[in-house]
Amino acid sequence: LTTKLPAVGTTVFTRMSALAAEHGAVNLGQGFPDFGCDPALIDAVDTAMRAGHNQYPLMSGVPALRQAIVDKIAALYGARYDVNAEITVTAGASQAIMTSILCCVHPGDEVIVIEPAYDCYLPAIALAGGVPVAVEMEVGEQGYVVPWAKVAAAVSPRTRLIIVNSPHNPTGSILSAADLRALADIVRGTDILLLSDEVYEHMVFDGQLHESLCRHPELAERAFVVSSFGKTYHVTGWKVGYVAAPAPLMTEFRKVHQYNVFTVNTPMQHGIAHFMGDPQPYVQLPAFYQRKRDLFRDGLAGTRFTLLPADGTYFQCVRYDGISSILEADFAAWLATEIKVAAIPVSAFYSSGRESGIVRFCFAKKDETLRLALDRLARI
Ligand code: PMP
Ligand code: GLN
Repeated sequence: LTTKLPAVGTTVFTRMSALAAEHGAVNLGQGFPDFGCDPALIDAVDTAMRAGHNQYPLMSGVPALRQAIVDKIAALYGARYDVNAEITVTAGASQAIMTSILCCVHPGDEVIVIEPAYDCYLPAIALAGGVPVAVEMEVGEQGYVVPWAKVAAAVSPRTRLIIVNSPHNPTGSILSAADLRALADIVRGTDILLLSDEVYEHMVFDGQLHESLCRHPELAERAFVVSSFGKTYHVTGWKVGYVAAPAPLMTEFRKVHQYNVFTVNTPMQHGIAHFMGDPQPYVQLPAFYQRKRDLFRDGLAGTRFTLLPADGTYFQCVRYDGISSILEADFAAWLATEIKVAAIPVSAFYSSGRESGIVRFCFAKKDETLRLALDRLARI
């Protein structure tokens, strides 16, 4: 069999979690909370199951959940999507991203990917027969920034799609309104589509605003906007997310979606719809994670690592040039096996494998987990 994905092996997240387990390391590698979700959310799913919501839902998703998503987007971002034509519930953000790419990228089409980039974009582009065009973020004192002039220069007549991700995994940077204006300048007058990965939309710190593409009609009219309840409600294993897109894009999305998963599990959708009736859980999320970020940053300030800014997500990137000059993957392996704290090498998020002497920690952990990790990191 000739592989369709020659560049793909086991994901760095799976590998680092396995290494952490093998060596008894505190796992700050793979991004997932080590604490539970609100019991009321579990009750809501339990109630839905007992009420008999256990057969196929509508292909686009349970109406009450789609309505809750429409209302949330309207309340937060001032955009009004059509509940029937413009929202589809997906099996996590991963499937929303894969399906968005498969439904619009034709063989030979170019897709601009801003790197470092979350690992599921490139394989999806490859399966669609697309050609990824990488533009690397620049990293300086102020952290990671997107060089929009380079994005503009990467556009060609074959460009079909630009993928953006804010808040950004792995860097923890966020796009500003000025960034989105620069993006709008690039796509205006073209038929380029946008895929906006906003799974960390409720994790933006220091009073800053999440610049959803939904806020900007000029961008939203050509965008698939993706989010994930796994991140928002501390249930990454549930794999429920959604995509919002204008009707013509959603029509194409659903052509693929209905033969990809057809539908997403019913009781979780009902449970989440019910739980979304109260906005407090996502309204309180920035403060919840900002406190953890600050606890972790304060602890790291007393170590030999150098902190990069962390404006959003539950990730903290650090430079380790004060400790070692070895490759990131080797440093991460050493951290996991010798120091017993797992991290992710940021080089894993570059198609070029670029080395910057930076690793990513996940702080979506109990305070005691973070303190244990900090104790170990302080000994380096
Ligand atoms: N995009 C980004 C940036 C992510 O970090 C993740 C989760 N690791 C996903 C997409 C996938 O989300 P889900 O688990 O809902 O498929
Ligand atoms: N999104 C998570 C991360 O970035 C991992 C998800 C996965 O294991 N594929 O760490």
